[in-house]
Amino acid sequence: MKTFRLLLAALLFAMLATPVSAEPLPFTIANESITPGSRKDFRIPVPEGSDGSTFIPVTVIHGAKPGPVLAVVAGVHGFEFASILAAERLAERVDPAALSGTLVLVRIANINGFEGRSPNVNPVDRKNLNRVFPGNPHGTQTERIADLIAREVVACSDFLMDVHSGDGAEFLDAFVGVYGGPLATDFSLALQVARGFGFPNIVRYSMDTQEQIDRGRSLNRQGVAMGKPTILVEIGQNGSREEAHVAAIVTGVENGLVALGMVQGPIHDVPPPARLFEGTASATASSEGVFHPAKPGPRALEKGELIGTIRDYAGREIEQILSPINGYALYGITGPPVEAGDAVVTIGVPVNAF
Ligand SMILES: [Zn+2]
Repeated sequence: MKTFRLLLAALLFAMLATPVSAEPLPFTIANESITPGSRKDFRIPVPEGSDGSTFIPVTVIHGAKPGPVLAVVAGVHGFEFASILAAERLAERVDPAALSGTLVLVRIANINGFEGRSPNVNPVDRKNLNRVFPGNPHGTQTERIADLIAREVVACSDFLMDVHSGDGAEFLDAFVGVYGGPLATDFSLALQVARGFGFPNIVRYSMDTQEQIDRGRSLNRQGVAMGKPTILVEIGQNGSREEAHVAAIVTGVENGLVALGMVQGPIHDVPPPARLFEGTASATASSEGVFHPAKPGPRALEKGELIGTIRDYAGREIEQILSPINGYALYGITGPPVEAGDAVVTIGVPVNAF
């Protein structure tokens, strides 16, 4: 009996002491299984509702070696074409044999917005996918897409990149938004990845209250809510497919793969940011009508400076919009249509350091 116990103890010790296998396992997502060292292209079906079924095209590159899971989501806004073209290019460039970990590429989150060339919203239900997270499996089509992206893509990731490109009738100066503050996870890692894009602007969004995360929740704030280090990538404007913008996104994601330890290099050389911001403020329209920007495009603004005017449909000036702070106009609408409540310009609050 004593010998048996000793044998049992030895066996248990051997089991506990055996190192966990370094061999990666198949990666599973949305009922798909991807073998190590391979790539798989598939569609996540968005089930039929009262407004029809759709799908989310996804490519997973599952590395030959174990490592973290990076989720890159493009096309939350289907008219933001640079992000979508960058996802297509990344799927061809990232080699599963050289990858440690897994790259989950959502090629086009909002396929009906893309096919319909529809800025801001999914034309099926007129909802903005970037305001309905965490979504609802029994809701309208956009809410069902959000639910699937949250549960299948964000949930399985260790790091989230939400990639946008300035929507229709918008101007935008390239920036990366980084989530920090008490309710965000691993700001320093997210900042390191953000710097790899080489964009001129970095915005730190401090998540101090649950209300900030919940109100009109975007995909990037869904990442924050689920405890993922998250960045918001923004480059391009007005449905542009400019090569420089596509290439800049690819460069940034590839530098991110190095920063996350998923590939060995090389690092693309990029400049440091020219401007840092601690959050943003909005100048908001109170009236609908025809918007006339004083000077369209990104620029420094002084508090009280005229941003633009709104005329009614008889051509009478009915509103002047003034800058609420000293700051930098990062993005905004070029108009001419404007609705009451629209953020006409989003203004970064400058800081010297984070
Ligand atoms: Zn967008």
